[in-house]
Amino acid sequence: MNNEFIDDEKNELDYAEITEIFENFFTSSYESKLLEYSEELGCALVDYEELDKFDTRVAELLLDKPDELIALAENALSNHPLLGDRNLRIRFTNLPESIKVEIRNIRSAHLHKFIVVDGIIKQASEVRPEIIQAIFECSVCGNKIAVAQTKDTLKKPAVCPACGNKKGFEIIERKMRDVQRIEVEELPEELGEDPQPRKIGVFLRDDLVDPKFQKKIIPGRKIRIYGILKDMSLPKVKGETKRRDIYIEANYVESIEKEFEEVELTEDDLEKIQDLAKDPEIYNKLVKSIAPSIYGYETIKLAIALQLFGGVRKVRKDGVVTRGDIHILLVGDPGAGKSQILKYVANLAPKARYVVGKSASGAGLTATVVRDEFVRGWALEAGALVLANKGIACIDELDKMGKEDRSAMHEVMEQQTVTVSKANVQATLHAQTTILGAANPKYGRFDPYAASLAEQIDLPETLLSRFDLIFPIVDRPDKDRDLKLVKHILKMHEEPEETEPAIDPDLFRKYISYARKHIKPKMTKQAEKMIEEFYVGLRNKYNQQGEVKAVPITTRQLEAIIRLAEASAKVRLSEKVTKRDVNRAINLIKEFMQTLGYDPETGVFDIDRIETGTTTSQRNKMMLLLKLIEDMEKRLPEGMVPIEEIVEVAKQHGMDDVEKLLAKLEKMGDIYQPRHGYVKKV
Ligand code: ADP
Ligand code: MG
Repeated sequence: MNNEFIDDEKNELDYAEITEIFENFFTSSYESKLLEYSEELGCALVDYEELDKFDTRVAELLLDKPDELIALAENALSNHPLLGDRNLRIRFTNLPESIKVEIRNIRSAHLHKFIVVDGIIKQASEVRPEIIQAIFECSVCGNKIAVAQTKDTLKKPAVCPACGNKKGFEIIERKMRDVQRIEVEELPEELGEDPQPRKIGVFLRDDLVDPKFQKKIIPGRKIRIYGILKDMSLPKVKGETKRRDIYIEANYVESIEKEFEEVELTEDDLEKIQDLAKDPEIYNKLVKSIAPSIYGYETIKLAIALQLFGGVRKVRKDGVVTRGDIHILLVGDPGAGKSQILKYVANLAPKARYVVGKSASGAGLTATVVRDEFVRGWALEAGALVLANKGIACIDELDKMGKEDRSAMHEVMEQQTVTVSKANVQATLHAQTTILGAANPKYGRFDPYAASLAEQIDLPETLLSRFDLIFPIVDRPDKDRDLKLVKHILKMHEEPEETEPAIDPDLFRKYISYARKHIKPKMTKQAEKMIEEFYVGLRNKYNQQGEVKAVPITTRQLEAIIRLAEASAKVRLSEKVTKRDVNRAINLIKEFMQTLGYDPETGVFDIDRIETGTTTSQRNKMMLLLKLIEDMEKRLPEGMVPIEEIVEVAKQHGMDDVEKLLAKLEKMGDIYQPRHGYVKKV
């Protein structure tokens, strides 16, 4: 090795001196810490600040030439009297702020330097072995030749140094180590205005892939990486190109899960937040602070405001968890402003992301297993809902999400986890994520009366029932509203400042995080009584209608009311949920039930219609129809009933929408068509 480090007179240091400084450092007062870490972590962890105090020049040099300095330090450590033969890797923590860089700002100037990057793990591959050194035997003289392996392809000796032979070398020994590749994305809370997060590949080797370390390396977790920026040839490009791909060779990784939960607040911020919370007009102000450029939709905006504050997550002693997140779905006509609202919320809320359901990006919404071309194994990739853990995911075009997401969504919305079990990869990822979804009707336009909501959205009914609130957005011509809408849009174009939000978005963001973090409201007696009365009252009213006893309101709505009421209390930074909060929640639920769950045939609320896509009177008819089919089957030779005949018979029983009912029975699996035009009971 030659000495490269003569920068100026003061900094003159050669390899021997650096090694000596490290040797002294390792036997200094840091020694006991070092031994402790080597036991606990399986590596020699060095606190940079300690090294800096010990020798500033070496500490500075380390940031500039980490590869060389770490090699020298490891060399120095290998001579340590108390560590015996153990070949420990040296890892650094607590590196200075000055070398911290955002993923989007990483440039070629950072190459081969120590950098610190914070991010969220998007993808993590399997751990695979790689050869770092191969020993070959010469087929002519039997000489053994060691070749270091640094490239993707295996390097053989060009010539045998003993006999000059140039071919027929055979591998007799391999020195291996383990490697894992992860992909890290910018933290959602640090994205700012640009919703598109950047990512970078990171390689973890040796003890960084030990099982105990792997607990940190789970997609969706937030980490701080201390590493060295490296370059390599672009994958998939044959031959030499000038362009290079960059990655981080991790020296050390730390979990930063806790540190970022809170947005920093100044005294001034806190005062402003408390003023807002006391303002009697606060709920109106909230409404006026959500997508102010979109006219109307006050109820929806209020619901979204409460969603941002959220209910209280409850964990019972037996481990049963009730989510605090309020899920909202907007269904409606195209061009009604849904996407605009979602994008606005994604920008406004802390830790939010906007994604499109049919996103081509692979991982989709939940999680998926993909091939990793670098380690030639599988990699687990977290989708948007995992990456938005403890935040809000605004999912546009939810109806167009992939098949796998569809089934995984049930688990996400209730248990708030994603379980993956595919190709070697088994994992359960956290997804405590609030969902604000938007969907277009299946047949282009939304029709609130033609059929149940479930039939008009291309989403499973079981999934729909997991939303606390579903709002239809119907774009019907309405002279009065249209005029106001036009005026609103015109005004927005003329005087954009007139549609400024009532609460400054930055303050709003802080307000939300403060309330979410510190306020856990509890029900007052009166509030509980009010919910009880509403719930029992509605169920009783329905039972009096006779017919099949359907359940007009289920525990799901009950929980939704509680969550919304809690959110309403959080707005006031109040620890108590009052009757007014409950009233606000009940009004939202009523509105939701009226527009979607109202049974037009009997005139009563029927939440069953949302939960199963069938109204009670419809179900009664279906049961009758099924009975008729059964009777007819018995009379017909092959037990197949011509549809024409059923329609005829059903008419005599006063039914006219028989085809629709038959289609429904078929969909529900009660009947099938053995031949076109015929049905049979299953
Ligand atoms: P969607 O996602 O529901 O199909 P978009 O959000 O893409 O609709 O809206 C289409 C356009 O119409 C946007 O430019 C939006 O600003 C405008 N728009 C729709 N509804 C309203 C409204 N109520 N007030 C103001 N602008 C609206
Ligand atoms: Mg849209």
